[in-house]
Amino acid sequence: MGTRGWDWLGALRGEAETLRPFNWLLGLVLVAVTMAMAPSLVADAFPVIENDCSDDTITYYFDNSGSGGAWASWQKTAARGGFADWSGVLDWDGGTVVNSLVEVGGPGGGAVNVELDTSPGGNPGTLGYAECTGGATISLNPTLITQSLWMEHWARHEMGHLLGLEHTGNDDSQDGSVETMATCTSVDTVSPGLSQDDSGNITHKKGDLDPETIHANAGWEEGTTFWGYSNLAYVNLSTTNPADGARALEWRPVVPNGLIYQTMNYAAAGGFTIDARTNHRKLSSSPTSGLVTLQILVRQVTYASNPQCSYPTGKDQNDRIYVQESWTTVGVQTAAPTTQWAMLTESTPYTISSLWDAADIRVRVKSNVAYTSGSGMATIATDTTRARDQGF
Ligand SMILES: [Zn+2]
Repeated sequence: MGTRGWDWLGALRGEAETLRPFNWLLGLVLVAVTMAMAPSLVADAFPVIENDCSDDTITYYFDNSGSGGAWASWQKTAARGGFADWSGVLDWDGGTVVNSLVEVGGPGGGAVNVELDTSPGGNPGTLGYAECTGGATISLNPTLITQSLWMEHWARHEMGHLLGLEHTGNDDSQDGSVETMATCTSVDTVSPGLSQDDSGNITHKKGDLDPETIHANAGWEEGTTFWGYSNLAYVNLSTTNPADGARALEWRPVVPNGLIYQTMNYAAAGGFTIDARTNHRKLSSSPTSGLVTLQILVRQVTYASNPQCSYPTGKDQNDRIYVQESWTTVGVQTAAPTTQWAMLTESTPYTISSLWDAADIRVRVKSNVAYTSGSGMATIATDTTRARDQGF
């Protein structure tokens, strides 16, 4: 992993205080219960903290009376940008996942107090801090956070806690970028925008669908972001005739079995059962042969022991060790597409081992559908493509 400086230690101490006392204590209780069943369970990333303080609607105000003084214009602009990223997460039907996140002029009505604090949570080495007691507070350290991108990142991170998210690891499972909810990291180890794993986490926690969606941007309502492609000749974000919401993805392989995919880290996944579903169709009514295939693949993730960055299990999510490098296909379902939207469901339950610290879960749709006239591969459309969390 990358170099960690003294601010990392500060961040660690501060993050350990995060959401204290209300949610953190609840989290400890839940961890104690689940550890009895699954000793390796790491309680992070997906909601172990069930009683977040937001109730899905958050108002906040910039408090100028913190020990770090009054907010400068650039600091507020950056923090607003970080907060707003959560409002940009769209559900399968185009609706927002976080229903309301609005700035107000001052306290009252439970508005979150966002302050500059030179000692967040009582520690001058801490980057930021969030708690739910009373109204709720986000504290950001202006001594350590001296650049706009850093302020945006840490504001986004602390708001993630108030929305009920725990920490995730350093490396996003889809693109390797630094995750929004990573901790135990240096102040400048940030990425612009909300990370894919954490976008998926908030969708899992607050999205409309039941069973819950594991993947981010499942309905392409946020564009093509968070999706990967292999061996495609054509990809088009279509706003005409989606299965649901406002958008669908149209794509045509270069060769048989060109595909789209998305990988999602699922921490504390042991014992959970997953399956997958996609909507699919073909665009042209010309005769075709071949199948669309929906697959679920999993990969075991193991965390290293690291007392300096550990969670209640004594393991550090930021240090991912893949003891099983290769992917295993655990579910497959095929269908011959027509010009009508149809669901393709891989409903054979797959249960993630309770011995695993976490799992990377990849959903994949591939096509070998070709025109029987011999004029090449056919264009496929997909919508609301996701692995689903069927729970215990
Ligand atoms: Zn944190």
